[in-house]
Amino acid sequence: GPGAILTGANHGDEYEGPIALHHLANTIDMDKIQGRVIIIPMMNYPAFQAAQRVSPIDQLNMNRVFPGQPKGSVTQLIADYITTALLPMCDYVLDIHSGGKTLEFLPFAAYHELDNKQQQQACEAATLAFAAPWYISLIEIDAGGMYDTQAEEMGKVFVSTELGGGGSTTPATAEIGKRGVHNFLVHAGILDANPVIPSSPPVKLDMQQDNAFVFSEHNGLLEPCVGLGDPVSKGDLIALVYSTERTGSKPVKYLAASDGIIVGRNFPSLIKIGDFMNVIAKVVQD
Ligand code: ZN
Repeated sequence: GPGAILTGANHGDEYEGPIALHHLANTIDMDKIQGRVIIIPMMNYPAFQAAQRVSPIDQLNMNRVFPGQPKGSVTQLIADYITTALLPMCDYVLDIHSGGKTLEFLPFAAYHELDNKQQQQACEAATLAFAAPWYISLIEIDAGGMYDTQAEEMGKVFVSTELGGGGSTTPATAEIGKRGVHNFLVHAGILDANPVIPSSPPVKLDMQQDNAFVFSEHNGLLEPCVGLGDPVSKGDLIALVYSTERTGSKPVKYLAASDGIIVGRNFPSLIKIGDFMNVIAKVVQD
């Protein structure tokens, strides 16, 4: 049968992946497996141990060092091992992300627009099978060095997720992760079981538009004026940023640059210049 590699904690402060993959490792029934399953609950283990996004050893972001370097520092070595030893054994690749300490997302699974449309269709089908409440064709701010890009360039069926954030989990997002892992393996034809169908089908989001991301241009105290999942129209007030230096000065207003719903938000209440404030995507109607 086919091979699958399942990873969590590519960023060390994202927890739905490690929980879902610990759960899988404890419950997997090998008699129902046809093929190969490689489970890496904590991909960037030093970062996970330190509860931070990047490795405390070399300060590197795992998702910016692919394909890795065989004589590099520890994060580059892990990436190189995954690229050269593990990915060639696999057809299906699932990398479970969440927002980490700095971001929070509506729980979604995601694929990318690819030049190879047959591969893209396979990625979209696997993304839909994961059965998160939302799914999306994701635009990356910078795709260089990403695990995603590496796996896609090697022709793999690649699915990523963002299942929550804030450096914590909820029962709902942990369950979405567990269900998604199960469904992904069933979809791949590796696990002989029925998929777990959620009560309402995944809703497709589209961020193939300019102005999907809103970045902060100020340091300050962030007051979000809309919440995750809220609908917005272009020009709506989405946030105020107050001075942290003095009272009485007017806050800066941030307006939605496009129509859609709020899919992601900055989590900490103190925001810095250049921080991602919100991402807005459109709901795709059937
Ligand atoms: Zn991540």
